[in-house]
Amino acid sequence: MRTYLLLTGAILFSFGQLRAQRACLSADYLNNQLQVDPSLAEEMSRIENFIQNHIAASANSRIEGVTIKIPVVVHILYHVPGENISDEAVYSQIDMLNKCFRRTHPDSAKTPAVFKPIAADCEIEFQLATSDPLRRRTTGIIHKYTPLTYWQADDMMKSSAQMGDDPWDSKSYLNIWVCNMRKIAGYSSLPGGPATKDGVVIDLNVFGTNTKPGYEMGKTAVHEVGHWLGLRHIWGDAECGDDLVADTPPQSDYSIGCPTGIHTSCNNGPNGDMYSNYMDYTSDACVNLFTEGQKTRMRAYFAAGGARNSLLTSTGLSAPLIEEAPLPEEAPRWLAPRIYPNPAGNELVLDVAYDIRWVGKVMIILNATGQRLMQFTISSKIQKINIAQLKPGLYFISSRKEDGSYIKQKFIKM
Ligand SMILES: [Zn+2]
Repeated sequence: MRTYLLLTGAILFSFGQLRAQRACLSADYLNNQLQVDPSLAEEMSRIENFIQNHIAASANSRIEGVTIKIPVVVHILYHVPGENISDEAVYSQIDMLNKCFRRTHPDSAKTPAVFKPIAADCEIEFQLATSDPLRRRTTGIIHKYTPLTYWQADDMMKSSAQMGDDPWDSKSYLNIWVCNMRKIAGYSSLPGGPATKDGVVIDLNVFGTNTKPGYEMGKTAVHEVGHWLGLRHIWGDAECGDDLVADTPPQSDYSIGCPTGIHTSCNNGPNGDMYSNYMDYTSDACVNLFTEGQKTRMRAYFAAGGARNSLLTSTGLSAPLIEEAPLPEEAPRWLAPRIYPNPAGNELVLDVAYDIRWVGKVMIILNATGQRLMQFTISSKIQKINIAQLKPGLYFISSRKEDGSYIKQKFIKM
């Protein structure tokens, strides 16, 4: 619960302070999943036994020397045009994933000398899908308007029925959802969770390069994809916890900002904490390695019988069999509440279908001098309001949500 408590506390402070650490909710997300489905613990422990046995087996039985290529589909969910991340931003993110997992990024030179001998080229690459699950040609990027204004770590973005976008078969694709997470940088499922919830979620403010200062290099996605490939936080989500990797030193807690020098904790001297590891919370400019142990762990999931093995036979990167271009996404026709008719007789219709989170909020009707004449709770996305009691004239209809968005519109009663 460490990150959750931190987040709750941090909300009391400024957004800037909150961003001083990589607000990743993956560990809490796993805890929630385990509470919802206790049988998941057994499945994850079976997978962990498989991974540990595979790592313990001779190096010859591992899939060494093979570059693993993972087909990726990016689901961009936007509510206002500014949230509709460009394809170029997606390319920059895929490029950063490849540079970090292949250890070709110039920041690799910054890895502390004591850890350089165990810094790994993971030989894992990412590529936007060229074929969708029906073998139709695709760019691997989906842009989709959503009526929702923001998202939480509750998987709603992974479901079209809940205003998000359904995943492509997670046995064949890495699904990445990019949406307005507010205050959360991202979260990921671990291998073995439900297939319909499998994938990585990234806040649009830290997706791709040139984004939020401190997390502007696209390394949040590197961290989250690390989780998706079975890595835990470097501090093991507990004081001197176990991250299930042998060559990462134990460390008392996460790191923030851009540490320098040697920080010892949990008797991990003389080299100290590995704060430059992608699985810490350090700023983007200061994380620069996965270790050989993390590489072996991630790649073990791809072995025969492993939880990510099916990706090796995905057709997501094959030539498409169907050239039919998918229909372009229909742009939303409105991004605001609508009231009609206007002028109105005895009945006014309020349509908030663009954002169903208005349902349940209190709406007031004011006259031109600001006097409150009516108050009611919005009970459905298209609601009829009886305004027979109002005299002819100009009125305002108004409401406000916790996220700061508000409705204020004029109407005339005939
Ligand atoms: Zn994390």
